[in-house]
Amino acid sequence: MEFEKKMCFMVENQIVRRGIVDEGVIQAMLTVKRHLFVEEAMAESAYGDFPLPIGDGQTISQPYMVAVMTEKLKLGKESRVLEIGTGSGYQTAILAEICERVYSIERIAMLERKARKRLEEMGYTNIAFKIGDGTLGWSEAAPFDGILITAGSPKVPDLLFSQLKEEGRMIIPIGNSFSQTLTVVRKVKGKKVEESFFGCTFVPLIGREGWEED
Ligand code: SAH
Repeated sequence: MEFEKKMCFMVENQIVRRGIVDEGVIQAMLTVKRHLFVEEAMAESAYGDFPLPIGDGQTISQPYMVAVMTEKLKLGKESRVLEIGTGSGYQTAILAEICERVYSIERIAMLERKARKRLEEMGYTNIAFKIGDGTLGWSEAAPFDGILITAGSPKVPDLLFSQLKEEGRMIIPIGNSFSQTLTVVRKVKGKKVEESFFGCTFVPLIGREGWEED
């Protein structure tokens, strides 16, 4: 099957059928070619209903997870968003399709370099990249309308919460290193208001306000 067909099939069966309604998210997922974010040998599986390895023990998230996390941030054309865990850059591209500006931090330099090259070649001009510990946030660019954390954390990193705008939203998998709960954290009058959704499994968030490296 050609990639276009696989992409439509993915959006129809994995995204829309499971309840995603945000037009911006659906359009972005019909635009960004996911097979360009994995190694060529895995391109055929890129539209499958699962995460895939991207090197260094990391993964590109399952398409549905990307869609849910993005939808829950309620972003629009004027939003400025911070992403922790660039990984392959696929989620970054989805955010860049929807938002005014995306700031993305990755701790593994090799992954960051590959993702940056890929996204620059695709023509995105509204993404800023940084290599480092994302749990410290990006103070020069704060505050953000949304913060998306694509790795599992033991708690809400305080510094990241402080870089969220009033009424802003953070989406973060919270739990232990094997399983987490997808959680939305809103800032209401400066305080955290948390809402938990379903169980999920992400690679660990490693950093000062996450897990220690082994
Ligand atoms: N959104 C990515 C997901 C990659 S997996 C994609 O779909 O391709 C999670 C990523 O978070 C990994 O690349 C991992 O290296 C990165 N990561 C883990 N802890 C981090 C931290 N403290 N700061 C920045 N990146 C981190």
